[in-house]
Amino acid sequence: MTPRKILVTSALPYANGAIHLGHLVEYIQTDIWVRFQKMRGNECWYVCADDTHGTPIMLRAEKEGITPEALIARVHQEHSRDFAGFHVAFDNYYSTHSDETRFYSEDIYGKLKAAGLIEVRSIQQYYDPVKAMFLPDRFIKGECPKCGAKDQYGDACESCGAAYAPTELKDPYSAVSGAVPVLRESDHYFFKLSDPRCQIFLREWTRRGSLQTEASNKLQEWLGAADENKLTDWDISRDAPYFGFEIPGAPGKFFYVWLDAPIGYMGSFRNLCDRKGMDFDEYWKPDSTTELYHFIGKDILYFHALFWPAELKHAGYRTPTNVFAHGFLTVDGSKMSKSRGTFITAESYLQQGLNPEWLRYYFAAKLNGTMEDLDLNLDDFTSRVNSDLVGKYINIASRSANFIAKHFEGKLLDEHVEDRFRISLPELMPAADEIAGYYEARDFGRAIRRIMALADHVNQYVDQHQPWKLAKHGGQERELHVVCTTLVNAFRLLTLYLKPVLPKLAQRAEEFLNIAPLHWNDARHVLPPAHLINGYEHLMQRIDPKQIAALVAANQESLAPAATPAAVPPAPTFAAAAEPHSPQRHAQHQQHTEDQTQAQVSPWEPFISIDDFSKVDLRIARIADAKHVEGADKLIQLTLELGGETRNVFAGIKSAYDPATLIGRLTVMVANLAPRKMKFGLSEGMVLAASDTDGKSPGLFLLSPDSGAQPGMRVK
Ligand SMILES: [Zn+2]
Repeated sequence: MTPRKILVTSALPYANGAIHLGHLVEYIQTDIWVRFQKMRGNECWYVCADDTHGTPIMLRAEKEGITPEALIARVHQEHSRDFAGFHVAFDNYYSTHSDETRFYSEDIYGKLKAAGLIEVRSIQQYYDPVKAMFLPDRFIKGECPKCGAKDQYGDACESCGAAYAPTELKDPYSAVSGAVPVLRESDHYFFKLSDPRCQIFLREWTRRGSLQTEASNKLQEWLGAADENKLTDWDISRDAPYFGFEIPGAPGKFFYVWLDAPIGYMGSFRNLCDRKGMDFDEYWKPDSTTELYHFIGKDILYFHALFWPAELKHAGYRTPTNVFAHGFLTVDGSKMSKSRGTFITAESYLQQGLNPEWLRYYFAAKLNGTMEDLDLNLDDFTSRVNSDLVGKYINIASRSANFIAKHFEGKLLDEHVEDRFRISLPELMPAADEIAGYYEARDFGRAIRRIMALADHVNQYVDQHQPWKLAKHGGQERELHVVCTTLVNAFRLLTLYLKPVLPKLAQRAEEFLNIAPLHWNDARHVLPPAHLINGYEHLMQRIDPKQIAALVAANQESLAPAATPAAVPPAPTFAAAAEPHSPQRHAQHQQHTEDQTQAQVSPWEPFISIDDFSKVDLRIARIADAKHVEGADKLIQLTLELGGETRNVFAGIKSAYDPATLIGRLTVMVANLAPRKMKFGLSEGMVLAASDTDGKSPGLFLLSPDSGAQPGMRVK
């Protein structure tokens, strides 16, 4: 089979903020797919870049007192570090602020202009007379015309959800200077997507059948019936001052995001081609036989499946082979939230010492190639990684390797075992094609389920043959050798199948197995007779739930009122729009909710959802020991047993209890409270006690369960 030639992209992150777990849904899934293609022997290139232009970057750099170039250089370094930390292996991670991107922006613009698809129109826009600049919608604030909420953005109200034009805001002000904006006319450049040529082309292009079903339905809705033309023209220019590329022949006018960010795909690839001596045109000429895929968030589907192909087509380039849209990330069933500590940055995840491959595995297990949202359930994350990866997969190596080392000097059986292997574990080798099919279709969840079912078979084989018993009794050395050789081969195959998801672990497993890097075709054979393996070192730790609690605590922000009017607000951009929950937007939303809360009358509000409640892990604990704390007036030091685990907790109950009377009794504790460093030591949880809040009836009353409850039981 001739290797395919494939070019793959992920959406460009905006060079104005940190990479977070929501972003990683896209980069990890793209990386898995690319790694799979490379293992198959295809020529596959994965390029991306920072989206570096626009007003938010210009203003942020100004606020920091640095040049935009210095800002984007710093962010580029941060983004590169975060992606590398999660083993996202771009062939090129570039910048849209590059000569290559400028070249293709000008080239495409020039060709569209020559084709009569660019039009200049005068539009009215708010202008900040103090700052001397036109204001994007998100930089204008005022009172919502529908509900009267104050400090709303120029495009939509976060209180009532209404969408409107900035000119409808009451008492508008510039979020940059605070000045009252004035309406001014200015010439803007438009790409005529409404032109019949675009419509005819797009109706055909969107009917090729390879698009995701949901995407195809959306596109037909946007295109409308055959006798309709629902496509509208796109504004592709902005006025100075602006950080970006000036439009040739239009002084003071700059290309807006639509005419430079996606062209960054081409710029990045061009840069790669020049470094590697590859032929750019082979991939981008109109009749190219190579394949081009864009992985994107579902919110930029319109742009990637309508505007972008039309733009490429009429500028004389190839169009994408397909666009793969995915949903957004939620954490524990809700939007990522700074107040809950679930707005987790890539950097903090790594800094807390969590293994990036845990997350890669979990995302893979939940991805299915559709536009559905993906939920990171933190309990499920812990249990799935621990039971699947450590309990089922890694265990196979640890259960067999030591016997091979101890009894057979690291050598596998000195005979050809392939037939025997096929009989012992009949599904393991033939599954390669089926699993490859799931990877190709980006149905990673199915691939993982299949691989884990195979791991279950292998573990049944272990339980049937009990190598530890064979090792104990003399005279069964040969049988032990057969069983362990089978297990090492099984581990090698499972490693091969998991390698696109767990590249680092696979590399360490390859070192342990003493083999060359695994390719997909290697699933057709087993290890040679008398193959020598290296000593086994533990390949992956289990997740300790305390690590998750610490991660959430590290990402938790207090809801201190902030947001001065002069703060730089977010603006929708190519990739910022791709972010499920832009940090600033969400912080803003939280702020708003807090304000509302203060006005509530009912003492029971704000209500919490069952999801909120279920985050509190309440457990029955036995007080194994209770002591006075020297120098503390209110505290008792408790040693709590939770069924297999003990915790040290400082409880403020000295006024009500004598420590000696507490020993042995059962109570209820919050088991997943982030550990807190106190003057007297680390407190690892909290016990629950009733008290009268207005102090009329003094006293503290520890909770006790009914008889029969055991330490460690969950309270819900
Ligand atoms: Zn409103």
